[in-house]
Amino acid sequence: MEKISKATTSKGPAERFTGDVYVDPVVPGEAGFSVGSVHFTPGAHTAWHSHAAGQVLHCTEGRGLVVTADEVLVLEPGDTVWTPPDVRHWHGAAPDRFMTHLAMSGVVELADGQEAVSWQEHVDDDAYLEAVKEI
Ligand code: MN
Repeated sequence: MEKISKATTSKGPAERFTGDVYVDPVVPGEAGFSVGSVHFTPGAHTAWHSHAAGQVLHCTEGRGLVVTADEVLVLEPGDTVWTPPDVRHWHGAAPDRFMTHLAMSGVVELADGQEAVSWQEHVDDDAYLEAVKEI
């Protein structure tokens, strides 16, 4: 056996996240699937995006949410949410709480020019505040 985790924590880039987010790699994609532990500071969240292979989110700490065009789900420790392939969504922390989730995806073969994650526009501040009213 071998230890395959990489110790390095990286900061989520500003073009993909609003607020301060830190990512710890847990399982690298070379294993055939990838797992990251994503730490959101209060109010921090992703931009809109979708995953070519879908994504499983499993909340380990704090309180947050996952949002699609027509649904808002709370994320609390123990909650697991499946976001299907190519469904636009965003996820992040409640305004007054940290939130950590494991983000897990299978590695799929991508067509030419297709990205594993399609990153899109930032979440509008008013839309964030509207969504958190529902959790
Ligand atoms: Mn996602």
